Amino acid sequence: MQRMNKALFLDRDGVINIDHGYVYKIEDFFFTEKIFKIAKHYHDQGFLIIVVTNQSGIARGYYTESDFNQLTQWMIKKFLDQGIEITKVYHCPHHPDFDGDCSCRKPMPGMILSAQAEFDLALPNSVLIGDSNTDIEAGKKAGVGENYLIYELNNTGL
Ligand SMILES: [Mg+2]
Repeated sequence: MQRMNKALFLDRDGVINIDHGYVYKIEDFFFTEKIFKIAKHYHDQGFLIIVVTNQSGIARGYYTESDFNQLTQWMIKKFLDQGIEITKVYHCPHHPDFDGDCSCRKPMPGMILSAQAEFDLALPNSVLIGDSNTDIEAGKKAGVGENYLIYELNNTGL
């Protein structure tokens, strides 16, 4: 069977929200200027919207899985308010200093490959947007067709 779905993979910190470092509270979460417009564009073309985010703050003990999940639910709701359904948020809670090596922390492609298996994705037809070389590396390793490294979403004046 041919894989049928395509996805827009979004990094979170620096792409969806301004990256202040280890953001885990709603009051510290500021959406970047164009993210809803970009996500809507792909969403309306039938791309599944999938977030893939490294969250080593969990391994470091800065915040908990529960903190992360609470913020994620709020974030998903904000996208829904804009008519954009996020299909799934994958996160890597690990850090090599605490957990050893894992296959999910970008630049490893683990989260993308999990999404491929779960949602029957054609990765060559999929797109990734990241603000770090490790995002792009993960996308390329997984075989994502288009990988965009952005800077400006990171710098919207805050
Ligand atoms: Mg980032």
